[in-house]
Amino acid sequence: LLVGGSPFEMDMVDIRGRPTRVWKHAPATLRACLEASLEYGDATAVVYGEERLTHAEYYRTAATLAHRLVDEYGIGEGDRVAVAMRNYPEWVVAFFATVSIGAIAVPLNSWWSASELRFGLTDSGAKLLVADGERLERLSGVLSEIGVPSIAVRADAPLPTNSRPWGEVLAEVSPDARLPEAAPDPDGPATIFYTSGTTGLPKGAVGSHRNMIQNIVTGEYTRARTFLRLGLELSEFRAYTEALPTPAILCVLPLFHATGAQSVMLPTLYRGGALVLMYKWDTEEALRLIERERVTSVTAVPAMITQLMTSPHLSDHDLSSLLALSSGGAPAPPAMASRVRGNLNDVLVGQGYGLTECSAAAVTNGGPDYQIRPESCGLPAPTVDVKVVDPADNELPPGNVGEVWLYGPGVVIGYWERPEATADTFVDGWLRTGDLGYLDEEGFLYIVDRAKDMIIRGGENVYCAEVEAEIHEHPAVAEVAVLGVPHEVYGEEVGAVVRPLPGQVLDPEELRSYLEPRIAAFKVPEHVHITKDELPRNAAGKLLKKDIKRRYGWLGE
Ligand code: AMP
Repeated sequence: LLVGGSPFEMDMVDIRGRPTRVWKHAPATLRACLEASLEYGDATAVVYGEERLTHAEYYRTAATLAHRLVDEYGIGEGDRVAVAMRNYPEWVVAFFATVSIGAIAVPLNSWWSASELRFGLTDSGAKLLVADGERLERLSGVLSEIGVPSIAVRADAPLPTNSRPWGEVLAEVSPDARLPEAAPDPDGPATIFYTSGTTGLPKGAVGSHRNMIQNIVTGEYTRARTFLRLGLELSEFRAYTEALPTPAILCVLPLFHATGAQSVMLPTLYRGGALVLMYKWDTEEALRLIERERVTSVTAVPAMITQLMTSPHLSDHDLSSLLALSSGGAPAPPAMASRVRGNLNDVLVGQGYGLTECSAAAVTNGGPDYQIRPESCGLPAPTVDVKVVDPADNELPPGNVGEVWLYGPGVVIGYWERPEATADTFVDGWLRTGDLGYLDEEGFLYIVDRAKDMIIRGGENVYCAEVEAEIHEHPAVAEVAVLGVPHEVYGEEVGAVVRPLPGQVLDPEELRSYLEPRIAAFKVPEHVHITKDELPRNAAGKLLKKDIKRRYGWLGE
């Protein structure tokens, strides 16, 4: 469509033995993204509360940390450095320092329990952990046992053995600090983001530099396509882009998620923009920050956008800087489009569909297209192919529901040390998503259901198999089914139906307290039914979850 118009020129690049379209003018590695910050000098790169880091300061801090990683911790190419903290500026610095020397950054979910964090550290074989006080406290005991040293961020409690405060490691940051020599391979591993794929067991999705980088250009291209679909000229799009203010993005999604780090953080910093971080999601604080920092766009999960648009204080704030509001990570209620439209007339609203395994959004719907088809997650990015297949893996014509498969430069290398799961999920360069959907005649994708047994609670994925396994550990449990319960704001909440062993008594509250130290709080079922009846199963013994949902009125409309 746009090939030939310079910023959008594409090239065929061989990614792991398969040709893939990539943009000619994109940087090849994450190191190049960090280096771009040197040019932006005094422009703000990261805002956190009253703290501000300019692009030059952010570059120098990351470059200094990169030297410390090499000299003091012996981190080299391919070594894993885990990062576990809230959305602090140190997250951004630690991530870029790691990937710029060819090491692999392993973001860990900061809501994870001690045993989940331990799993992330040992599974990835992390050589170093950069973590905040809360995470270190949670991991006290674990770290010395597994022998992983740590750098402590914003921690005032006594530190674990072999832990040094961030301020001490970065005691001297020279104004002339430059990254140590390294030449990361654009197609080599750069990140491991944990996800559960289609089977429910946590696995690390290994992304290359190029997998991450394609996010930088995808958004731009999609905006250009929106212009063309409106019948405007490419020159008009260029004029529009040139007149745009420097981006200031409110980063409300956790950085340990693909969308937060890859769709929000990367393009913002690469373009010299400001990343406005929040300690935790808070609707009123988000509105205040949009006004104070002249925020130009927000990418959030649908639940957050709904909360923003329904806030009684919406009209108390000057939100005139906002240009775009997009949602992803979970199905967006079609009403979201009109809700935003009603409140913020000039704001471009959209939604995106993607997975950790394809490095965030691969299919996006925005602007007028979204107003016309609010139930679609949009057109595939121009570098992405989508097909819908039947259970025998045959491609289906438009209008037929099947499993959605994706192909493109964001599809990751595979799962970390899981050859079987990798072979099941990545087929000849295609990613099997485990989502059910169909394409219409014009190529718009509609996600209608999930083949994978997963609940999305306000954007956080909860794998039923994982929660069921934990509940089974309880000595009084005979049988359990974990399922999604429709919820107006979160989309879904976690529900569990549990049958105790004969003669045993189970109490929902007691079961919840039992689960709390074991799994992250967002996975603990909000709804628990205790039943004496056997749970309905099919002939193969598989739980009939739709029947259970129907029985408890959990099917939605
Ligand atoms: P994650 O790997 O955590 O990003 O989760 C990916 C999964 O979230 C997908 O496989 C879908 O099931 C779901 N998902 C993401 N975006 C959307 C969307 N726009 N509409 C429906 N489901 C979505």
